Amino acid sequence: MTDPNWTVPDDAYAALGDETRLEILFELADHYEAAWSAGWLSFSKLCDRVGVDDTSRFNYHLQKLQDEFIVKENEQYRPTIAALYVVTAIRSGTYDGETAVCESVTDERCPHCDQPMVARHDEHLLLLACPDHGTTLGYPVPPVAASHQSLETLVELALRRHAADIESIRRGVCPYCWGPATISFPRETIPELYLQLETVYATVACEACWMSYPVPIPSLLGSVPAVIALYDDHDLTPLAMQRGSTALSRVSEVELLENGTAEITISLDETGLAVVIDGDGTVERCQRIG
Ligand SMILES: [Zn+2]
Ligand SMILES: [Zn+2]
Repeated sequence: MTDPNWTVPDDAYAALGDETRLEILFELADHYEAAWSAGWLSFSKLCDRVGVDDTSRFNYHLQKLQDEFIVKENEQYRPTIAALYVVTAIRSGTYDGETAVCESVTDERCPHCDQPMVARHDEHLLLLACPDHGTTLGYPVPPVAASHQSLETLVELALRRHAADIESIRRGVCPYCWGPATISFPRETIPELYLQLETVYATVACEACWMSYPVPIPSLLGSVPAVIALYDDHDLTPLAMQRGSTALSRVSEVELLENGTAEITISLDETGLAVVIDGDGTVERCQRIG
């Protein structure tokens, strides 16, 4: 849910709606490495590199980009982090080379039918799914990734990034835009394309950008030290909290308590943990069982 205070300023739309201005950002991004030793580009050098003859016209374009996307310092122009993100987003999203593997069967089994889960990279999204019961992971991965990495590596990296995202969200920071992120539960409905697990879901969302998705409540606990220790006692790595039969969402039971908190009981063999989190995901209590 986007708060009106966090909408994109009209200037930003206008600034980027022009080919020359995008080229200026691309030139500055390409100069990034050289800038460490040679500094950023002067007006004339930048104008030369973009290939514009009319200097007053070029100045007009620079003005449009200034402050939001370009900062002028000591007669040199450097890109802001927002400008570099724009370049990254366009380049990674429009890769037109050959993409290697697109789909492969994994060792992971569907909890409903026991058939192998299939990993698929679908241009902009990496999916791990049971063909009959739905998706257990859907993570944005741009087309360029599949050109130089195996699908197996991409799945592992997506899971690690997803875990880091949840950690960031639990600290109240959106992993995509660094705006304010929130956790709320219970979530009433889960999209049909999701692999439905017998657990209670939360919604994680950002007040500033598009981010919003359901997460099984137990999966919020992957970075809690006592949970990491419990898995470590069973020689299980943090990745085991996210996938397969040892996934937190599969070995935990969730009980919603009347004061708005949730009690998550994690059971691994004979041992376990009871963790109570409050409405925004903060751990209130954590107790070893067995
Ligand atoms: Zn299935
Ligand atoms: Zn955000």
